[in-house]
Amino acid sequence: MANVADTKLYDILGVPPGATDNELKKAYRKLAKEYHPDKNPNAGDKFKEISFAYEVLSNPEKRELYDRYGEQGLREGSGGSGGMDDIFSHIFGGGLFSFMGNQSRSRNGRRRGEDMMHPLKVSLEDLYNGKTTKLQLSKNVLCSSCNGQGGKSGAVQKCSACRGRGVRIMIRQLAPGMVQQMQSVCSDCNGEGEVINEKDRCKKCEGKKVIKEVKILEVHVDKGMKHGQRITFTGEADQAPGVEPGDIVLLLQEKENEVFQREGNDLHMTHKIGLVEALCGFQFTFKHLDGRQIVVKYPPGKVIEPGCVRVVRGEGMPQYRNPFEKGDLYIKFDVQFPENNWISPEKLSELEDLLPSRPEVPTVIGDTEEVDLQEFDNTRGSGGGQRREAYNDSSDEESAHHGPGVQCAHQ
Ligand SMILES: [Zn+2]
Ligand SMILES: [Zn+2]
Repeated sequence: MANVADTKLYDILGVPPGATDNELKKAYRKLAKEYHPDKNPNAGDKFKEISFAYEVLSNPEKRELYDRYGEQGLREGSGGSGGMDDIFSHIFGGGLFSFMGNQSRSRNGRRRGEDMMHPLKVSLEDLYNGKTTKLQLSKNVLCSSCNGQGGKSGAVQKCSACRGRGVRIMIRQLAPGMVQQMQSVCSDCNGEGEVINEKDRCKKCEGKKVIKEVKILEVHVDKGMKHGQRITFTGEADQAPGVEPGDIVLLLQEKENEVFQREGNDLHMTHKIGLVEALCGFQFTFKHLDGRQIVVKYPPGKVIEPGCVRVVRGEGMPQYRNPFEKGDLYIKFDVQFPENNWISPEKLSELEDLLPSRPEVPTVIGDTEEVDLQEFDNTRGSGGGQRREAYNDSSDEESAHHGPGVQCAHQ
């Protein structure tokens, strides 16, 4: 069908949306005669509907509003005056009330333009400290020189080729009583429905009604904001005539940090210590996200087991909108053991005297077999891993060999 928002009024007159003025007039006269209250006293409402439909569709301005925006276009055009509401609710259902409901959703009941979504990359430091940044973007704004008209008032002409609808409808008779409707974008106006003579076109926007403008937005990244959080600038998206601009929405993208991993309001980091620190206490310093040098002390006598985690309360991320409350910082300790043969055998026995004593080896009775303990690179996978590769296509084989592999990886 034709490119119209709503066909109800056309349906009432029994004509297609592309109907000519003549077709409308004929249809109206025929129906008006049939349903005139003098002839048909019970069809009062029907007569009102027919009259209303014709009143709208025979008026080029109203018809255009209706074709473009449907019922809403008419309501806006009419200003929702008292008597009109009756016939509106009769034809379109609802009443002024339901219209008011729509109005609040999109101010003025105008069509709403699309929101523009931009990713905004921010560092963990920015999210910790908060940051104000300027974002430059290019957007369409209504041309100030012609007030978004495209030319002097009166210069905008309805395209005569498509009667302002932006599409042309051709009706082809396939057989007697059988017609096919075809529609194509109007080439005279490029589907705009309007044309402006070249000499009347606004010089500034060349008749486009909008111009590109560089807009600088001041973006406040608040302390504690999170990855995926949105910052909305209401009504700052592209402007277009008769359209309420949508919002610009910035989507925060947290960049990876070399030291810290974030989990909600908590931070996690890994710190390497040597065996001597793990056994004899230590002190180390790291730079926090706000630049503070944090000193971590662990007293002699307290032991750090390899892979264990300790927590520093209140040194995590600030809470969004409550930045004086902070999450916690978790430090995982990676204990570095010495290399092979790092000490002479004599010193080693001295060390052994200092370390907690060995468990007693139970005496074994009967035959024994001594085996060789070899180096094994965990990252290269076990022998089972190689067999898995060979049977890669078979999921049964894979799961059968998976068990030991997984256990090794987690040891
Ligand atoms: Zn202009
Ligand atoms: Zn046209």
